[in-house]
Amino acid sequence: MSELNLILVGPPGAGKGTQAERIQQDFGLPYFATGNILRKAVTDGTELGKQAKAYMDDGKLVPDELIVGVLLEALDGAEATDGFLLDGFPRKISQADALAEALEKVGRKLTAVLLIDVPDEEVIRRLSGRRTCAKNGHTYHVDFDPPKHEGVCDQDGSKLIQRDDDKPEVISKRLVTYHDETEPLVEYYEARDLLRRFDGTRTPTEVHDHIRATIATLRLEDAI
Ligand code: ADP
Ligand code: ADP
Repeated sequence: MSELNLILVGPPGAGKGTQAERIQQDFGLPYFATGNILRKAVTDGTELGKQAKAYMDDGKLVPDELIVGVLLEALDGAEATDGFLLDGFPRKISQADALAEALEKVGRKLTAVLLIDVPDEEVIRRLSGRRTCAKNGHTYHVDFDPPKHEGVCDQDGSKLIQRDDDKPEVISKRLVTYHDETEPLVEYYEARDLLRRFDGTRTPTEVHDHIRATIATLRLEDAI
């Protein structure tokens, strides 16, 4: 079976993490989310975390020198040899170029880039109500997807917190960063015939059904 090398792209709060949990289960793919990697580094107080924190708190991208090497090294590991699911990387053209070059070197290529699109008003609504599991990053929403017990993660019982960058003043900065730096990737991957678009305003189940069907079709096409 050919490998599935997938990327999730979309504005903050589009539902990338929510869909990633489901896609991972469907296809048994290892999942690499640079936001989670960076937040763990901040919590663990590593050198990476210390350097990244100020950028994250200000809604900016961390410099490529801090994250590109970390991600490429993870993709080079044994876990990712049969495919991968990336979330939050690449986040700008320079990162997409670095990824393309690294894959080409080892004779691999991307299967598809899944764009989950939602308008800015919806981003604000979602991020201001998002609650995140302090341990593993599972996400909830106070209105759209509440946990069974308030403040506690259904999956591992850990505490739910509001991310520092989900505060209103940082949310608007993250949206500006997305439109300026990440959105150009849409055209970049469209030109390479890799982009697949999904309407992220539908329910999580509808978005998931659509993504799963698209991936299944891509696999079939690849097998023919
Ligand atoms: P991202 O990883 O793209 O930042 P998340 O998956 O963390 O986004 O989702 C952001 C917030 O929106 C979370 O609170 C999540 O529960 C909620 N959410 C995710 N998908 C949907 C959806 N299709 N409809 C409504 N709310 C959603
Ligand atoms: P979102 O919910 O916006 O999708 P993430 O969890 O992916 O957020 O990212 C949180 C923060 O981590 C970003 O605002 C940015 O500061 C940093 N970050 C994550 N991935 C990258 C990346 N590939 N390049 C630079 N910075 C990143």
